[in-house]
Amino acid sequence: MKNILFAASECTPFIKTGGLADVIGSLPQALNTDRTNEVRVILPLYEGMDDSFKDSLTFVSDITVPVGWRSQQASLLSLQHEGITFYFVQNDFYFGRYGTYGYFDDGERFVFFSRAVIEALPLIDMDVDILHAHDWQTGMAVAFANIMRPDIRTVFTIHNIQHQGWMTHEAFGDLMNIGPEHFAGLEWQGMINCMKAALFHADKITTVSPTYAEEIKQPYYSEGLDSILNERSGDLIGIINGINADEYNPVTDPYIFSQYKTSRLKKKENKLFLQRELCLTEDPDIPMYVAVSRLVEQKGFHLLERILEDFLQENVQVVILGTGDYSFEQSFAYFASRYPKKMATLLKFSEATARQLYAASDFFIMPSKFEPCGLSQLIALQYKSIPIVRETGGLRDTVQPFNEITGEGNGFSFANYNAHELLYTLRYSLLTYSRPDIYKPLIKNVNKSQFSWKDSAKLYTGVYKELVSR
Ligand code: ADP
Repeated sequence: MKNILFAASECTPFIKTGGLADVIGSLPQALNTDRTNEVRVILPLYEGMDDSFKDSLTFVSDITVPVGWRSQQASLLSLQHEGITFYFVQNDFYFGRYGTYGYFDDGERFVFFSRAVIEALPLIDMDVDILHAHDWQTGMAVAFANIMRPDIRTVFTIHNIQHQGWMTHEAFGDLMNIGPEHFAGLEWQGMINCMKAALFHADKITTVSPTYAEEIKQPYYSEGLDSILNERSGDLIGIINGINADEYNPVTDPYIFSQYKTSRLKKKENKLFLQRELCLTEDPDIPMYVAVSRLVEQKGFHLLERILEDFLQENVQVVILGTGDYSFEQSFAYFASRYPKKMATLLKFSEATARQLYAASDFFIMPSKFEPCGLSQLIALQYKSIPIVRETGGLRDTVQPFNEITGEGNGFSFANYNAHELLYTLRYSLLTYSRPDIYKPLIKNVNKSQFSWKDSAKLYTGVYKELVSR
């Protein structure tokens, strides 16, 4: 038996800003189907969590959390959801705020949470063998565990190396409560770096696709951490994410207009519905391209922005759903106003609209500059929307470019971060739409694509097994 505690900063259905929440909301279930695993999850309690969940919380204990020379009081609460035990750390000073991230003191907030995870360990009715922390927000929990609880093994998963939790070196004395001999483990380029601290201290490091595990050992993708990742490459493994196929299922999805399995006719009803809603030309035969994403540089929107004017000359429709950088929001809103019958831009975060776009679309655009795994292309495949991606990270591992000769492949891809490669790939996808001899085998492959957690859960269980036997 292995008792595993996940520590993370977001999780569906409680709070979500991106793919991390999907992973933390579905991997524990997959792991617990193996009876030798007991996975529980600990999260911060955010103001924005739905009242229906807040009302169901049970008090576990008060905790005192040292934060430098101060201490903070917090409450540890618990909740059972779909067979998983969740713990929440409640402290209104740090988490009783609007939203999740983006505050000037995010570093301090998540050092506090990381330390609270350690203080919570003796208070829960499970002897934790393995602490599995996710991304920089819980990176310091790995360091604290290694320093204070040598009886516990640690796993750290990099979901996105771009965000690392940088603080000035004064944070060491102000926040950490550990001896000066531990400074070097947390330090990077003269500052405190929570992700580096985890990479230094973790027993095992995982990331969310095999290709990304290789990429982050190179300076172009490592965001400055390639030297430590190369040092630790013997303990670094890439395990591809899955999705919860019950949750993202067009057969049962309550948000979409017309539920379907593989029927293109039913899928087109979703397109017509969306065209009507968005005042686009109502014609189910016009190919629809969508993007559902954070509107940030990582996702390759500079490329799309550059070629949209050209691409919109074709008989296509483009719908973009997302929020993010002001410049992308503005330029996509501009194209929507210039071509109101062909393009719509929805600047919001909405689960319902996201599902309607996946269901309505023929193609899903994801030309990321880098992509640790990417879940959106997997969800798109699940809704029979053909992904068009750049060959990087998890996109390379999950989308196989269609080959007309062999009939293999479940999407389209291009290699270089270059706007015209994207344009040519979009045009090629459009050509296939009008050629049933090519389109049919492609759709067949899309219908067969599956990305459940089964195989990946086995790989994680293997990592845990190795650690507890050490
Ligand atoms: P990342 O985690 O880098 O944002 P992923 O592709 O791994 O990217 O996961 C993104 C997740 O967030 C998907 O579930 C996607 O549907 C969802 N998402 C992104 N933007 C929005 C939005 N504006 N509204 C609703 N869901 C969104």
